[in-house]
Amino acid sequence: MTTVNPEYRADEAYASEMDARDPLRGYRDKFCLPMRADGTPVIYFCGNSLGLQPKATRELVNEELDAWARQAVDAHFDSKRPWYPYHELFRETGARLVGARAGEVVMMNSLTVNLHLMMVSFYRPTGQRRKILIDFPTFPSDMYAVKSQLHANGFDPDEDLIVCKPRDGENILRTGDLTSAIEEAGDSLALVLLAGVNFFTGQFYEIERIGTAAHGVGANFGVDLAHAAGNVPLKLHDWDVDFACWCNYKYLNSGPGAIGGCFVHEKHGNNAELPRFAGWWGNDPNERFKMHLLPDFRPRAGADGWQLSNPPIMAMAPLVASLEIFDEVGLEALRRKSELITGYLEYLLDAIPGKKFEVITPRDPAARGAQLSILAHGEPKRLFKALQERGVVGDFREPNVIRVAPTPLYNTFMDVWLFANILAEMG
Ligand SMILES: *Cc1c(COP(=O)(O)O)cnc(C)c1O
Repeated sequence: MTTVNPEYRADEAYASEMDARDPLRGYRDKFCLPMRADGTPVIYFCGNSLGLQPKATRELVNEELDAWARQAVDAHFDSKRPWYPYHELFRETGARLVGARAGEVVMMNSLTVNLHLMMVSFYRPTGQRRKILIDFPTFPSDMYAVKSQLHANGFDPDEDLIVCKPRDGENILRTGDLTSAIEEAGDSLALVLLAGVNFFTGQFYEIERIGTAAHGVGANFGVDLAHAAGNVPLKLHDWDVDFACWCNYKYLNSGPGAIGGCFVHEKHGNNAELPRFAGWWGNDPNERFKMHLLPDFRPRAGADGWQLSNPPIMAMAPLVASLEIFDEVGLEALRRKSELITGYLEYLLDAIPGKKFEVITPRDPAARGAQLSILAHGEPKRLFKALQERGVVGDFREPNVIRVAPTPLYNTFMDVWLFANILAEMG
């Protein structure tokens, strides 16, 4: 597959032309851009780690502080955005974000907490069927979560955790190797937990194919969308994913430690028999305030039935600001620019002569999101530090990878051009 857009050019004027023609160019203005000492904005390529603050966020948080100040407990039912059903604000927007049906998505807790809650329901080892399969490199929190779930069930990760790695000398996991590993594990496999987009390599996995293989051997299939949500188009419902979790502070710009997202497929969401850890907010809201009179948990239908506590409104307000933007732009337009701008970055990096680095992210635009992972030969930390000194904000992942993510909502083609030129100058 050719990935190079034949129109790309390496001159500065091209970057300006592309920015002038960009249908999303107005959105950069809706975000707070960190500034350098000289008053110019940094080149912010770290939206895959912490997205920028939408300017609308402050007002939305202030509105809730005001509601609390002026109305206190009455704001639960009688305010601009009543707190009692607050999480329902995301019913449609959250579903559209990940290709779900209304009711399949709830915003709650944070990512690792949600992974555990989902594994309580979807990692149900019985007899020989008790193994978990994950992809590698694995984000540490996910690794700890699956190992601790195995321990909690009395199993040994050395025996019952299958870590599927790229082949020696390769960086990218082949889908065929993943599906073969799943088939080989067969009826010993209880759960496949896959990243949507791998945090380290930026690889966007073939979620549907891998899910089909997991279901083919009778295993459940969950996806960690930390690096996929708000980055790539997803069809969780149609792909028949059992559950998914993600954080909203990366591509979704909802602030440090933002409230997380959780998807439960409709076929499970309405199954009140499914074991779960329960709390009052997962209960039918019409019966919630019968309190001690109704001691038996009756889960409300859908992903909402996995909620535990009443939601932290101050933490949820930024998500309203963020999802308004995503909903307005739509994943399709976002993806169009994302492929174009990331392809442009790849094109400029390819053109740097005698370079001391390689891009390990897949070259096929369909197999990646916004991020390119640059494996630096030589002195990766020195290179990263030099980039920082020139106003580039990316991040460094041990031992030798610099991740850069031109995000389509607020990065410009000029950001990419400047970055590539800084890198070229460093040789
Ligand atoms: C960012 C990220 C996390 C972070 O987990 P939190 O619970 O939000 O702190 C976990 N897993 C993956 C794959 C991530 O990319």
